[in-house]
Amino acid sequence: MYRIGVDLGGTNIAVGIVNEAGEITEKLSVKTKAPRQAEEIVSDIADTINTLLKNNNLTLSDISCAGIGVPGAVDSKSGSVSFSNNLQFFSVPLGSLLKEKVGIPFLVANDANAAAFGEFMAGSGKNTQNFITITLGTGIGSGIIINKRLYTGGNGAAAEIGHMKIASEGIPCSCGRTDCFEKYASATALVSQTRAAMEKHPDSLMWELCDGDKAKANGKTAFIAMHKGDKAGIKVIEDYVRFLAMGVINVINIFQPDVLSIGGGISGSGDDIIIPLKKHIEKEDYARFTNIRTEIKTATLGNDAGIIGAAFLDKA
Ligand SMILES: [Zn+2]
Repeated sequence: MYRIGVDLGGTNIAVGIVNEAGEITEKLSVKTKAPRQAEEIVSDIADTINTLLKNNNLTLSDISCAGIGVPGAVDSKSGSVSFSNNLQFFSVPLGSLLKEKVGIPFLVANDANAAAFGEFMAGSGKNTQNFITITLGTGIGSGIIINKRLYTGGNGAAAEIGHMKIASEGIPCSCGRTDCFEKYASATALVSQTRAAMEKHPDSLMWELCDGDKAKANGKTAFIAMHKGDKAGIKVIEDYVRFLAMGVINVINIFQPDVLSIGGGISGSGDDIIIPLKKHIEKEDYARFTNIRTEIKTATLGNDAGIIGAAFLDKA
């Protein structure tokens, strides 16, 4: 048997056929062209699924589960999207619309939760019982798996690790609070911190790396400067990892998962983040004196996590 996973984003719709081992056999991507009617998006998803089935000589009877991850608040029981800012969806019965158009039942989840479940089934969380993944991107995405099941809270809105408060500087967050974890430890935050450090240090090598244009600074700039011995670059990364550690250790102290993985563009910097992060954890983890400790890993599935997790939502 095979599975279908859909990762519906604000820019792209990624659809994949997934085998029972959690491997994508083929995937296709089409533009979301949001905002537009949910019916039109569903129609494009159905066309993409039909193409994939045809390419793989499969029919709907070969599919054991189909699921979709959506950015926004989702009622997974009814399969409806209560609200999606990116897609401009309000109370859209996405599961029913897909079932009608594609011809098989569809499970619906929040996209970060679907991606976390993908990492749990086939990536950095494989063979664990309790697993957490944190994705450093525009914001901070996260998902929590407890006793092999996705934890979404009583209302489906749980696991917003990015919106715990870790400081009192007054930096406003889109959620209405200030000083949320994602304002300090997302990829976007790292870029802001890099630009602020450049302002403060006109002699920093980071200016040269950006051709004298602060706007050209990206998530890699401070890492490159650090490796070339630039003091301002070293400080940016030190401070950034300290913020990241604050949030990660809060989460470890509450959940003590078997594995906590870090994903997203910056996690490609691997040891540059993981090694100093582990040093902070070594000092502050409440369970540092116990034998069984949370293992820190880099997420392994990248953008495929959302497709794979959506395909396995029957087990979530
Ligand atoms: Zn927030």
